[in-house]
Parts: sequence; C-alpha cells; structure tokens
Amino acid sequence: MNDPLVARMRAFGTTIFAEMSALALRTGSINLGQGFPDTDGPPAMLERAIEAVRGGANQYPPGPGVPELRQAVSEHRKEHYGLAYDPDGEVLVTVGATEAIAASVLALCEPGDEVIAFEPYYDSYAASVALAGAVLRPVTLRPDGGRFTFDPAELRAAVTSRTRAILVNSPHNPTGTVFTRAELEEIADVCTGHDLTAITDEVYEHLAFDGVEHIPPATLPGMRERTVMISSAGKTFSVTGWKTGWICAPAPLVRAVQTVKQFLTFTSSAPWQLAVAYGLRHELGWVSTLRAELEAKRDRLMSGLAAAGFDVYRPAGTYFVQTDIRPLGFTDGLALTRELPVLAGVVAIPTQVFYAHPERGRHFVRFAFCKRDEVIDEAVARLARLGEGTGRTG
Ligand SMILES: *Cc1c(COP(=O)(O)O)cnc(C)c1O
Repeated sequence: MNDPLVARMRAFGTTIFAEMSALALRTGSINLGQGFPDTDGPPAMLERAIEAVRGGANQYPPGPGVPELRQAVSEHRKEHYGLAYDPDGEVLVTVGATEAIAASVLALCEPGDEVIAFEPYYDSYAASVALAGAVLRPVTLRPDGGRFTFDPAELRAAVTSRTRAILVNSPHNPTGTVFTRAELEEIADVCTGHDLTAITDEVYEHLAFDGVEHIPPATLPGMRERTVMISSAGKTFSVTGWKTGWICAPAPLVRAVQTVKQFLTFTSSAPWQLAVAYGLRHELGWVSTLRAELEAKRDRLMSGLAAAGFDVYRPAGTYFVQTDIRPLGFTDGLALTRELPVLAGVVAIPTQVFYAHPERGRHFVRFAFCKRDEVIDEAVARLARLGEGTGRTG
C-alpha cells in the first residue's frame, strides 16, 4: 500500500526520541536522551492539581484559558520582565509550548511563506512549518569561543521577500546557548527592518545558569508589538507531562493564534491550568532551588563527559550538554548513538536530527542532565569505558 501520509509530512516519521527511548528500554540503558526530569515538581502544586480534580474543575474551561492562569501569567511577565499583557485578550493558554508553536505558525504563515529558525532546532519547528505549507530557512549556530552562536550576516542573508516570521529559542535547546543582548539586538534589527513576526520559545526562561540573564526578545525596542512570546510549565516546574503552555502577544496576534488553536484542541485541561496558576504565584522559590540543582548536575555531567574523552560545550541554560565526539575517534553521531547502548549502556540524542542539513551537526551528540545525581554518576562511569574500547590513546 502507498504511504497514506500526506507528502509534506513524510520526512517526519518516528521522532528520534521515540526511537532512542525504545532503545533504552530494550537494552536496559540509562536514558540521557529525552529531556524530562526523573523527579517531581513542587508538592504543593501537585496537591493543587488533585484538589482541582476533587473540587470539580473537570469540564471544558474557557477557550483562552482559565482566568486564574491568564492573570498569573500576566503578573509574572510584569514582575520578571516589566512586560504588560492584558490577561483578557493578550494571553492565551495552550496545550504545552508545542501547540503554541504549531498554532502560531499555522495562524501566521501562508503556504509558501518563509520562516527563519536557528539550527539545530527543536524538532517540532520544522514539522509545524511543513504543516503550514511554509518553508523553513535555517541559520546555523556554530561553536565560537566555547558557545554556539550565529553569524549576523548569515541571518540577514536568510531574509527574502517571502520571509514572514522568525522562530527564536533562548535558552536554546539543544546547544544551551542563552542569547546575549547584542545577539538579540541583531535579531530585533532584522525583525523591525523587514516587518517580521518573532515567535519566541522561552520554555527554559527560568533555567539559565551562572547568573546569565534570560532576556525576552519582546523587551527590546520595537519588538513587543511583533512578538508571540511562548512559554510553558513543563520545564519550569518539572511537570513535562502536564502540557500546559501559553502565549503572550498583542491582541490581534493572540486572536489569530486562538482562531487556529480553537480547532486543534479548543482548550487545555482545567486542573493543570489551576495548578500552574498556583505554581507561578507561589513556587518560584522552588524553581530557584531547581535551577541551582540543575547547574550542579550540568557540572557533574560535563566533567564526566570530558573525562570520558568528549569535547564538551558549557551550556548557559536548559537541560542539555552538547558534545563533539571526534576526539573519541567517532565521526557520525547517529551511528554512535545507535551503538552507544551496546558500547556503554547509555542513550543520547544525535544532534544532527535537529538540522535542515544533518551533515552540519554530524559530529555532535546531546546528553540530558535533568536526572538524579546517581543516574548521572552511573552513566558517566559507563561512558568512561568508551575511550578504552576504541583504541583511543592518551
Ligand atoms: C520541551 C520543549 C518544548 C515543548 O514544551 P511543551 O510545553 O512540553 O509542549 C518546546 N520547545 C523547546 C525548546 C523545548 O525544549
């Protein structure tokens, strides 16, 4: 039988996460692939979700989201970033950041429009752009001085008369880069100069390390009016299974995205919305502790990977460490990660799957550190055997 899948989605078969998580299960490997924490979120917030179910919050909530959450998101934006969004009309609750990204691209891009995204990019970006019949224009992030960044000239060269939007993810998965003000000014300059909409994925907004500041692109001059600012509770509160996200944007942009969102899911689950409203109001202290713990886990994993022989890039945020496998004598991250469960009993993600041109990221492999210390230690002990088996010297 011919493939029943529409042509524009055929390049998006099984995600690498499904493949690698299945491999981890089958081989009993430690899974440092998919980025989900192996500990729970703030207990009082979890209780709030249970209370919401018991208290009868079990029918369709309003399409834009429950008022409590829209209000809490609005207050959070004001307090943290000085950005004012009206909870009635400028905030929309979504089924995670993933739906927010898909609905934004579907709402704002005509078929044939172009969308710029920095590669390597979160895998849903290319799929959302393809669903919209739009065209993705990648701008490559490359290592420079120990972190991944872009060449402003390449960004400017990526703009054409068909460019409609730019997807900006900071703190950035999978490289760990947190864009500096200077980098964001380059992006803002392109957006304002070419009248582009910025769709900003800020799901790691609270997970920047070493005192590095997360700067929302909407705070730059001329940007608030053209930015769809996206975030989510999953990473902030270690509840990736709750799939509760939101967008903040001027009313016309929110109306456009909501027009699409209402026919994808109409609304998202009521109990989680109420619990996340509680979290944003009462649990940001818990998030500060999480950030400090994750920073220590990053260091723990980085030193282990370096000792095992990888070249390691220091992430300024997120759940992930980016490595270069060439010092170990390997050249292809996809081949290595498929073998790694047998070689070392560890699963990781080949970064090349996040590129429009996989060869640009062939030698990079991503490891997640949002795991318990003993899990990281065991993974690192296993990976230490890797260098021994490959004939690497020195
Ligand atoms: C995890 C993640 C998402 C998805 O967030 P959900 O709220 O789970 O949909 C989006 N973007 C990036 C960069 C992520 O790492």
